[in-house]
Amino acid sequence: MSKKKMMKAARFYKVNEPLKIEEIPIPSPGPDEVLVKMKATGICGSDVHIAFEGVTPTGFLPITLGHEPSGVVAEPGANVTEWKEGDRVVVSSIVTCGKCYNCLRGRESICIRKKLLGIHLNGGLAEYMLAPRENLIAIPGNVPFDQASTCTDAVATPFHALITVGKMKLGDTVAVIGLGGLGLHAIQLAKLGGASKIIAVGRTPSVIERAMKAGANLSVNVSEGNPAQKVKELTDGYGVDLAVELVGTQDMIALGADCLRQGGRLVVAGLGPANIKVMPPTIFVRQELDIVGSYGWDRREVATLLQLVATGQLDLSGSVSQRFALEDVNTALENLRDRVGRPVRLVIVQD
Ligand SMILES: [Zn+2]
Ligand SMILES: [Zn+2]
Repeated sequence: MSKKKMMKAARFYKVNEPLKIEEIPIPSPGPDEVLVKMKATGICGSDVHIAFEGVTPTGFLPITLGHEPSGVVAEPGANVTEWKEGDRVVVSSIVTCGKCYNCLRGRESICIRKKLLGIHLNGGLAEYMLAPRENLIAIPGNVPFDQASTCTDAVATPFHALITVGKMKLGDTVAVIGLGGLGLHAIQLAKLGGASKIIAVGRTPSVIERAMKAGANLSVNVSEGNPAQKVKELTDGYGVDLAVELVGTQDMIALGADCLRQGGRLVVAGLGPANIKVMPPTIFVRQELDIVGSYGWDRREVATLLQLVATGQLDLSGSVSQRFALEDVNTALENLRDRVGRPVRLVIVQD
């Protein structure tokens, strides 16, 4: 097989410098790896944090970013029999050891040796990427690559928070705090999972309106009056069974706790640097409240989401706000940083 030897890759060198589009050698897969030709790679808020704020440490420099990749198998490694050239796949970017206590308990997002493709290892903002064979998940049916790529993080992270960690049940009342891309997907999933009331909690009227279109029944604007009181009023004075916080700030987390009914659960999935401070134990203990963190996703969740999209139960057609060529990755990063047009997801697409 005659193969191209070089490929384009968008590489991160230094905070606040544009990613460099470089020609580098196409890597060869090890025996248990697969080389994937990229079709669509989503840009995430974490990429903005890396590129402009230096928040997330990368494994080495320069590194190819991109942790929401999808594409087709280009070359399976010598031991790989389950994938063949041309298979349509997404790559789940959390690389786990499969052997630690957390992996054995099925909690792979907190594997003690986990590494992320596109953060600690080269990722999908390139023409090709390498992935461990276990990290590939087949794209079923006619799910387009750009929508499939969002299932690896932008939809999988709220799925993990709402369903796996939050244990949402049919009929639960749910508050979603933070109405960016993760929040919109959380609302769609809460609706699909049979929440009886979905309260969208946000700050910007146009964003709240978009959340209502995505499936929320009620809304609370945090910049008006007492938002926790408002959530209680909207739930017959009780508060919600489940609140999912996707912002990561002290005030929004405290608000999430204050929105709960007795015995309710708050899932914090927003990442922020400030300490969490909620109510005194006289309330927290007496009401048996449950506050729990949620990080990342598991491969099973990505596979489940792809099935839901393939069967038409989950509509992600509105989730890809804009598509960019690999050469324009820096424009995409700047637009996401500046929230130009309030994007849900910006995706880099390639032929
Ligand atoms: Zn991400
Ligand atoms: Zn592990």
